[in-house]
Amino acid sequence: MHTMRCHYCDQGCNLDEGKTGICGTYHLSEGRVLERFPYRWSSYFASHIESLPFFHAYPGSRALLVGTAGCNASCRYCSNAYVARTDPATFRYFQMEPEALVRKARLASCHSIIFGINEPTVSFPSFRDLALAAHAAGLQAGCLTNGCMTGTVAEEMAQVCDFVNLSVKSLSEEFYRDYIGIDAAKTVLRNLKTLAAGCHVEVTTPIIQSVNDIEIPEIAAFIRSIDSNIPWHVFRLLPEYEMKDERYPDIEEITSLLTGACKHLPYIYFSNFAGSQWTDTRCPSCGRAVITRISPGGCGAKLTGYHLDGDRCPTCGTKIPVLGGHRPWDQEGTA
Ligand code: SF4
Repeated sequence: MHTMRCHYCDQGCNLDEGKTGICGTYHLSEGRVLERFPYRWSSYFASHIESLPFFHAYPGSRALLVGTAGCNASCRYCSNAYVARTDPATFRYFQMEPEALVRKARLASCHSIIFGINEPTVSFPSFRDLALAAHAAGLQAGCLTNGCMTGTVAEEMAQVCDFVNLSVKSLSEEFYRDYIGIDAAKTVLRNLKTLAAGCHVEVTTPIIQSVNDIEIPEIAAFIRSIDSNIPWHVFRLLPEYEMKDERYPDIEEITSLLTGACKHLPYIYFSNFAGSQWTDTRCPSCGRAVITRISPGGCGAKLTGYHLDGDRCPTCGTKIPVLGGHRPWDQEGTA
């Protein structure tokens, strides 16, 4: 029987004719590894780019968030298990060519299309075609990823994306093995470097109380070693899925760790609870709040004020890295 190794992620599944790998979204057909469900989308809807979250890319803009089904990892705390863990063959999809999704994005006055419901690596050819169609129509393209793809796919992702939010869940291989189901720490950190060299990157870390909160200073130092301008979103992970009996992360304890980490990184954000004081962008030189946001709870935040003068702090003139500048929602639809 013919067998071929899947080249999309480091799980490296050997695919036999008629069999699928761990994610369930690729199979071997006519001697090639192909997507089983090309151009089939589990959902699409318009959202503030800050809610995904991207805080330093086109602030204020609207994005069309899309996804498929399936995942190449098995996070014990998955907050989207119904989409990620359900057999993709049984899922209910919208079947839509990339150009049709781009038309939807334009009709909804979106400035970009972002793949973020599940992991784009498991539907990479469809995502790549969608990103190219978005660019052809003058829209931006981005994604949220777990970073567990092969180096080749990471390079291609950097080429087709304007911005990526990569989840660095830990620096430890043991953590990835125990909580994510894949020995991917080295792979993720390598891919972070590749993506940061090729497009705008923000990083998200879901924090589990008493498990990876102690890594906060080390992760901040690691991100700094790549680029201190990378925004870091610390996500207060509410226990879900196989970890629903665990403790809720303590806001005060994590705040104290983040305060120490600020000496490593100037742009640290903390979300997934209402009223967070960690959603504004502050000038690292004079401390002025140059972009203000409010956290209504949930992931990310909403923009409430944009005070940069060009790309600089209006008080002291320090350059603040923001891809594309302010794009208020009510001025969209003209791309
Ligand atoms: S993308 Fe899916 S099939 Fe391919 S190696 Fe990864 S888990 Fe296996």
